[in-house]
Amino acid sequence: MEVELHNTTKKLCVIGDPVLHSKSPAIQNAMIAALGLDYIYLCQPVPRGEAGRWLDCAAYAGYAGFNATMPHKEELVPLMDELDPMARQCHAVNTVCIKDGKYYGYNTDGVGCLRALEDELGFDTAGKQVVLLGSGGAAKAVAAALAGTGARVTVCNRTVEKAQILCQMDPALLTPAGLETDILCKLCENADLLVNCTSLGMAGAAAGDFADLSFLEHLPAGAAVFDAIYAPPETALLRRARELRHPAMNGLGMLVWQAVLALKHFTGEDFDEQKAKAAAMKGLEQAGAI
Ligand code: NAP
Repeated sequence: MEVELHNTTKKLCVIGDPVLHSKSPAIQNAMIAALGLDYIYLCQPVPRGEAGRWLDCAAYAGYAGFNATMPHKEELVPLMDELDPMARQCHAVNTVCIKDGKYYGYNTDGVGCLRALEDELGFDTAGKQVVLLGSGGAAKAVAAALAGTGARVTVCNRTVEKAQILCQMDPALLTPAGLETDILCKLCENADLLVNCTSLGMAGAAAGDFADLSFLEHLPAGAAVFDAIYAPPETALLRRARELRHPAMNGLGMLVWQAVLALKHFTGEDFDEQKAKAAAMKGLEQAGAI
């Protein structure tokens, strides 16, 4: 299915540096076509430090909005006229809507993760005990969304100072810790959910992989495991979690749901989310991205 172009077609895009590898155009254009929306979604390289100049260009060129990936998510925060609570909380914007010359910033990454957990595993994070590995951009968005549902989250990171800073977002619900195996084993004993937001296990990453996955053996029966990585589709962490009979899922759903939620902000349309999600998955398949 292809996007139809008219003189009225509204423009959307993803900005980043680098950005040409982005799967967002494949996902968004597939949803736009399936839902019959009068939009097109492009890929726009914007160099680091140039987000402000890009905002002027986007408004002048009549863009309805855009998504932002590395390194612009934090740079955009002070440039917004309004921020949604999630973008304010995690100090990162991944979705910008441009209306009447004003910029509205949102963050759909963390809520996208929650929606994926609910959709794929039927897992409701409200009030749950979570062990979250990592303290980078993905971890920050996921921690903010988890805390928003009242989950109690221990944020474990190799550089524990970064976990401490992240936990200042919501000290009542977020607790910092290290990433050593003995710490993880102890924390897993009481966890309902384990989330990996480190780069460990990601295809082609310099980070390598977990040297020791024995902490998974300490999870209670039925505890869920979510790996934000989607390439490869099954990391060693997910494989081991499944061997131990835990419900487990990769990061593809998070990628797709953050896009569904972004398209809702861009269009203001109350469209069928499951139809959009199915189209996005098909778009990724057709683009050879999964
Ligand atoms: P990031 O900001 O660079 O953070 C990387 C994290 O990985 C940090 O916590 C870092 O710890 C940790 N790490 C890196 N190398 C490590 C090592 N050798 N040992 C232990 N910890 C290590 O990256 P990000 O944007 O948050 O992305 C993190 C992961 O999430 C990536 O695999 C990415 O593919 C995935 N992701 C998925 C989605 C999705 O939609 N599914 C969205 C965004 C990201 P230090 O602080 O100690 O360096």
